[in-house]
Amino acid sequence: MNADIERVLSSQALASRFVQEHSLVPPVDVHALVAEYADILEQPILNSPDIDAVLLGLDSGDRRILLNGNRAPTRIRFTLAHELGHIALGWHIAHELVCEPEESDPTVLAPRDSRQGQATADRRRQEREANAFAARILVPAEFINAIRALPVPEMLVRLEDAQVSAYVGLRVLSEELPAGYVFALREKDDNRVECWWTSRTDVHSSHPYAVPGIRKGQAVDSSAMGHELQDSGWAHHQGRLVWWGKTRTTIEVPEGTSNWREIRDEILSEVCSSSDSKTSLMQSLGGVVGNLKPISQDIESIASELKMRLERKSANDGAGPMADFVAHDQFLPFVYAHARSTLENKKRKKPRRRTSDQQDGAGLSKSPGF
Ligand SMILES: [Zn+2]
Repeated sequence: MNADIERVLSSQALASRFVQEHSLVPPVDVHALVAEYADILEQPILNSPDIDAVLLGLDSGDRRILLNGNRAPTRIRFTLAHELGHIALGWHIAHELVCEPEESDPTVLAPRDSRQGQATADRRRQEREANAFAARILVPAEFINAIRALPVPEMLVRLEDAQVSAYVGLRVLSEELPAGYVFALREKDDNRVECWWTSRTDVHSSHPYAVPGIRKGQAVDSSAMGHELQDSGWAHHQGRLVWWGKTRTTIEVPEGTSNWREIRDEILSEVCSSSDSKTSLMQSLGGVVGNLKPISQDIESIASELKMRLERKSANDGAGPMADFVAHDQFLPFVYAHARSTLENKKRKKPRRRTSDQQDGAGLSKSPGF
């Protein structure tokens, strides 16, 4: 896995432990929480359009947050949680950090500007990690778990309890829900898509597969989506309009399915006309399903995610071997067999529980200079 993604994931994992230790439930009283770790000073001098906060004393323990109070309340909450992220993520060490935390469009990672060198790249990575931490503090995974069974419009109403922007809430929602959900935020005063998210894809490193029918700057075209929608609609969320869709992902689990490699090879021999096209399709399949990191122990949800990824790839590629693969009558047995193998591998590799004295950084000290 990409090292940047790994660090974002470990930022999220630390946030989850922080949530448990502090029993955080939305709406998190982030002001009181952060005040346990740093002095918060609202600074009129910081009321600049470009700066949300300056964190001082990260290297000394005498930590102070100079906060731009001239922001929307949800943004101030996110900024405070972001600064807490810098404090909690022990590898963020600096005398002074100038922050502009909230990503306006989380589907796009800040581009690397080689002219600005390694220092800037490190700072951007720290900002992303602090953002990932902040989002999981304000919108804990447990909270999403508690609302995930609701109809989507109700889920979006409950999500408002977290008091975060639509960008942050929808991002965490899409990271935690099982595969099959699509959310598109409508531009203000316009019918076009400003930003969109799909559930359980690699949202950390930009979307690997676009959803046909959803394009930034265009209206949602649900008829072009390439897979059947079980349900969809518009919902109000944080004063914005959100289009949501849920694809049909329920899989009939076939009995007595054999090894997925055997099923794959059987399909390949029927849909590929040459060994080159077979090699190329195998690479595509590996690229789509190879990096699956299921958090669920539930085979149906793993199979749904695999099915969704492959269907999306097929819809994006258009007519060709991948489309033939997905249309093959052994496709679902392949998906199920692969999901079962993924689940068995996951159980085999399950790490041992760590004891409390092995924790690295979760026991965040409140005393200066921890
Ligand atoms: Zn920052």
